[in-house]
Amino acid sequence: GILIQDVSKRFGSFQAVDQVNLEVKSGSLVALLGPSGSGKSTLLRLISGLETPDVGRILITGEDATDRSVQDRNIGFVFQHYALFKHLTVRQNIAFGLEIRKAKTTRVRQRVEELLDLVQLSGMGDRYPSQLSGGQRQRVALARALAVEPKVLLLDEPFGALDAKVRKDLRVWLRRLHDEVHVTTVFVTHDQEEAMEVSDEIVVMNKGKVEQVGTPAEIYDHPASAFVMSFIGPVN
Ligand code: ATP
Ligand code: MG
Repeated sequence: GILIQDVSKRFGSFQAVDQVNLEVKSGSLVALLGPSGSGKSTLLRLISGLETPDVGRILITGEDATDRSVQDRNIGFVFQHYALFKHLTVRQNIAFGLEIRKAKTTRVRQRVEELLDLVQLSGMGDRYPSQLSGGQRQRVALARALAVEPKVLLLDEPFGALDAKVRKDLRVWLRRLHDEVHVTTVFVTHDQEEAMEVSDEIVVMNKGKVEQVGTPAEIYDHPASAFVMSFIGPVN
């Protein structure tokens, strides 16, 4: 899992993440939910090592990762506009991380086929990104992130740019995928319905602070503050 201990991060005089303490249990799927500017992406970047905390520590699978490089943390990422390599096929995109790690050719082939199957894109391995829909591209991005068997998967609004119908399908799909793979996953969204449907636990953020942590039912039934109540609200 991931343990975040008293982590703060400011940009100039702006406190983007403010004394956050959080545990993400091993194998769980946790949603970071909050309005724009509440510090969700910054917290994710702190976990990944793309940002360094001003104070506090971050432990990944029990080891202090605070001073480790991004590469050493063994993390998979998917962002909203995660650029796939345009000049590489789906198969080559998925294989990329394995090849730079010098995995054996037979192993790479086998793993890529497994992943294509997992993200339900078998038969599309020879296509180029431009020949895929937005939702299919994000599934390739997920397969690429999972290829190297990361300890942690970080998703920053991975379906944010897609239309409502595709988003809904991908939500369900992500939940199923997670039930198969069980990699510790932190999923950023500002969509309460998405958080409710997908996650084991929701972390509600507001102004850089964690307002509440709980299962979707706990948060919905017992909002800890007026902010959580108004933000979660009745899903309509
Ligand atoms: P959104 O839902 O809009 O993506 P968010 O919750 O992900 O919002 P963050 O991206 O974490 O929010 O940003 C939190 C605050 O920190 C914002 O006010 C943002 O402008 C500021 N911020 C983030 N990164 C930087 C940076 N590199 N330099 C200066 N300010 C930053
Ligand atoms: Mg963000």
